[in-house]
Amino acid sequence: MADYDLAIIGGGLNGVSIARDAAGRGLRVILLEQGDLAAGASSASPRLIHGDLASLERRHFLRVRTALAERDIWLRIAPHLVRPMRFAIPAHSDERPDWQLRSWLLLYDRLASRSGLPASATVDVTHHPIGNALKRPFGTAFEYSDCVVDDSRLVVLTAVDAAARGAVIRTGARCTRAERGNEWRLVTIDRGFRQVITARAIVNASGAWASSVAETVLRVPPPKVAAEQMDQIVVRRLFDSDNIYVFQNRDGRLIFASPYERDFTLIGTASHAFKGDPAIVAMAAGDVAYLCDAANRYFRERIETVDVVRTLSGANMVRNAASGRDGAMTLDNGRGKAPLLTVFGGDVTTSRLRAEQAVSKLTPFYPMSPRWTATAPLPGGDFAWDRFDNEVDEVRERWRFLGEDQARRLVAAYGSNVKAILGDAKERGELGLAFGPELTGAEVRYLMQREWARFPDDVLWRRTKLGLTMLPEDRDALAAFMAAAV
Ligand SMILES: Cc1cc2nc3c(=O)[nH]c(=O)nc-3n(C[C@H](O)[C@H](O)[C@H](O)COP(=O)(O)OP(=O)(O)OC[C@H]3O[C@@H](n4cnc5c(N)ncnc54)[C@H](O)[C@@H]3O)c2cc1C
Repeated sequence: MADYDLAIIGGGLNGVSIARDAAGRGLRVILLEQGDLAAGASSASPRLIHGDLASLERRHFLRVRTALAERDIWLRIAPHLVRPMRFAIPAHSDERPDWQLRSWLLLYDRLASRSGLPASATVDVTHHPIGNALKRPFGTAFEYSDCVVDDSRLVVLTAVDAAARGAVIRTGARCTRAERGNEWRLVTIDRGFRQVITARAIVNASGAWASSVAETVLRVPPPKVAAEQMDQIVVRRLFDSDNIYVFQNRDGRLIFASPYERDFTLIGTASHAFKGDPAIVAMAAGDVAYLCDAANRYFRERIETVDVVRTLSGANMVRNAASGRDGAMTLDNGRGKAPLLTVFGGDVTTSRLRAEQAVSKLTPFYPMSPRWTATAPLPGGDFAWDRFDNEVDEVRERWRFLGEDQARRLVAAYGSNVKAILGDAKERGELGLAFGPELTGAEVRYLMQREWARFPDDVLWRRTKLGLTMLPEDRDALAAFMAAAV
């Protein structure tokens, strides 16, 4: 008998979502990730959980309705990671006319009719906090509801749940070869050691590596796809209001400016064809300038390229422009050949559904239990989304040494599992060493023991975003702490 029913190559959002779905349906699953979870495109997404207004313009009504239904599911199963926001589109005379925006938003409200989020509205920005950060000429904005997500934590907590349901998650494990017979024989380099495992089926969820994995590891014809790159920039906070601004850029593209980690603003996206090594995806100077220019058309506070404190770039495969949001999925299962499922791309909003559909393609090969992921909360997500503030209050009540911002960060990252980090601590000193004002030894140890963190970047950029504010001496202390804790 094969060691596993399913071996998944790639620990991005697609890979971990498939691992969670399949493990919960009773399959024996192993996931192999060559680096860290979410180290590829999945930590560089636009962080939106949305129906996508731009899809309405393209008349993809069913797609919008499906995505809005997924948005509601995310709010129920991940109320800590997914937060409702009000999005504001300042009306610009050179762009889409007001009547068109208004009618799109009415339709958007209709398609999301059961969500419980506030409906769209027209706002006079001369008397509204939304207007404070905007240049003078803007008199009106259109507001509507959608959600944002912490994309890399979504990946990590999905993997935590997959593991809780029996999946084996191996980070630092690169699949280098897979021989195909009536089962797969995989060779991996797992933290420096060569290992051989067998599996009844493989999922190639290696994102921008999907073609090279097909050709060199699996030795099957590569999918006919192109690689695309997406970029965003982070600058110091440009506005105080808790809104996401949506600009209609001159080229027709919608650009989002979102509050990011309290003191910053995330602006995106720019995208173009990608060539090169997916392990090194860097943002071109022209794209940084493009996003700065887009922001400067709308915001009073001017930004220059030197104001950019971080860029976020990812690459993934796209079959064609139309398949961008949905991603692509193919099953290869010739006679006597073990199945090979290839899944890549697609947006964060529909990732749960995509994984459900991918695993369902394997039902002819295994007995498995029914679909289940739409109703089961992710770890720590066992509270109602509109009780987020109550959760923060309860955490502050129990651990009185925490400030409001610290409690908010911890609840947003860990939800009700925050107790596993804070335990019975009565004061901050009981949580071990401090790495700056936020991060404690207790949290780092938790991330290493329960969430596969191995190196400082795993903690500072993917499981938290504290890398944005951490001083070099605290970073050095963290590196020493993690090296000693291994
Ligand atoms: C151009 C572009 C547009 C996008 N637009 C949107 C959008 O509008 N909305 C949105 O929500 N998201 C968007 N996304 C991002 C979206 O977040 C990702 O596409 C999604 O997260 C799925 O990622 P993935 O799992 O396929 O790939 P990745 O996150 O890149 O994961 C693949 C993983 O496979 C691993 N791997 C590769 N080879 C091997 C091997 N041999 N052994 C072991 N592991 C291996 C890699 O290390 C990597 O971690 C866009 C992305 C791009 C690039």
